[in-house]
Amino acid sequence: MPDRYLSWTASGPGRLVAARLGLPRPEPLRRRQDGGSDVPGPVVIGAAEGGRLAEPVRRLLADWAVATPDAGDAREATDSPAALVLDATGVAGSERLRELYAFLHPRIRALAPCGRVVVLGTPPELAADTREAAAQRALEGFVRSVGKELRRGATAHLLLVEPGAEQQLAGPLRFALSPRSAYVSGQTLRIASGSGTEPGGFERPLSGRVALVTGASRGIGATVAQTLAADGAHVVCLDVPAQGADLRAIADTTAGEALEADLTDADAPRRVADHLTQQHGGVDIVVHNAGITRDRTLGRMEPGQWDAVVAVNLTAVERLNEALLGGEPVLRDGGRIVCTSSISGIAGNVGQTNYAASKAGLIGLVQAVARDREVARRGITVNAVAPGFIETRMTAAVPLLIREAGRRLNSLSQGGQPVDVAEAVAFLSSPGAAGVTGQVLRVCGQALLGA
Ligand code: NAD
Repeated sequence: MPDRYLSWTASGPGRLVAARLGLPRPEPLRRRQDGGSDVPGPVVIGAAEGGRLAEPVRRLLADWAVATPDAGDAREATDSPAALVLDATGVAGSERLRELYAFLHPRIRALAPCGRVVVLGTPPELAADTREAAAQRALEGFVRSVGKELRRGATAHLLLVEPGAEQQLAGPLRFALSPRSAYVSGQTLRIASGSGTEPGGFERPLSGRVALVTGASRGIGATVAQTLAADGAHVVCLDVPAQGADLRAIADTTAGEALEADLTDADAPRRVADHLTQQHGGVDIVVHNAGITRDRTLGRMEPGQWDAVVAVNLTAVERLNEALLGGEPVLRDGGRIVCTSSISGIAGNVGQTNYAASKAGLIGLVQAVARDREVARRGITVNAVAPGFIETRMTAAVPLLIREAGRRLNSLSQGGQPVDVAEAVAFLSSPGAAGVTGQVLRVCGQALLGA
């Protein structure tokens, strides 16, 4: 269901009328498929004194051939920056929060359309003292508010880098700056030292990797499969036998393979594990995307509606993980597990007690498995994406008024595309995300729901 309001406000007259009436003016977002470079213009870097990340950032941007005019020099005055990056790790107390204002206040209105504000900090619990902890925690409220103020498709990100994890910054920084994060805003990503594989190239970062994507015959899963394949992975596309024809069509577009299985069947996890071992000697990336809704308020919900949702969305994920991680492990060292949660699992939603419980359970699962010593020792990361309102067949079926609310009640005033979720999954699956584990990345345009 196309977003006609977005097309209308993108036209000259529509933009004018919307501005006059004070209506939202969503900006068509710049995405990877639109072409152009990952960082399409200069990046101005600011640093609070005593920070430890401005120099690594400067070196990375130089490697990526991105211009970084010095704050205050002549070029800064002429070119709209594609991004403003502030190293705030030196902000050691509340009185120094003023440095956020000092750097961003004079520049933020010049930010290019679909630009980025990236603030770098230290996880508060690793701060040297209580004053530094408070100041570093303040960054989150600041970035969330900046995200809500930015216009014209621009977004804000907070990257909390543990001391000693500086070498893991490249992947997350590149994701934050690039169109791959088009529909991610106001989010915090924590970067740990991880057992780091070096980030490979950014063109085909998944070359040589084998990925399993569940629920891959349509919607978000199909786009995840295609995006991982475009990034170089060989993709095993899994879905229920009833979706066999669509599944094979998607598998063909990825030059991968189709695997039919109902993940709730008792023997499904073993069959999938055996397939991956026999055909590929294991698997590197597992994307748990299959999911269902059976919406009903709790008092009216049939037991079968409760059971089906929990079985597919949560129990099947647990069982498949156990089959891939237990015994002789099928998921290889340095592997990636990405679960598909939902902002419903964070905020709750009317008519979705079953769904929200299952999606919140996935967050618990991700955090617990990521903490498992053996999983961490083997360099395996475990994360979730939490999509907000994504334009799919599922959301096209939602009644008009609720659909419009879902589309507009976020900082970007529009729904996301399946590719936005797929890009976040691809990032979390990449070697460059070795320092990111046990986290939930919301892909929701900074939805007001649960913000
Ligand atoms: P979709 O219904 O289009 O696709 C889900 C796929 O999972 C289908 O192909 C289905 O056949 C498959 N599947 C269902 N049960 C299965 C089983 N037992 N075994 C194997 N495959 C099974 O849904 P979508 O909108 O593309 O959503 C994909 C994921 O994203 C889901 O987990 C969903 O909960 C989540 N999500 C979607 C949105 C959104 O706005 N569309 C928002 C938040 C989260």
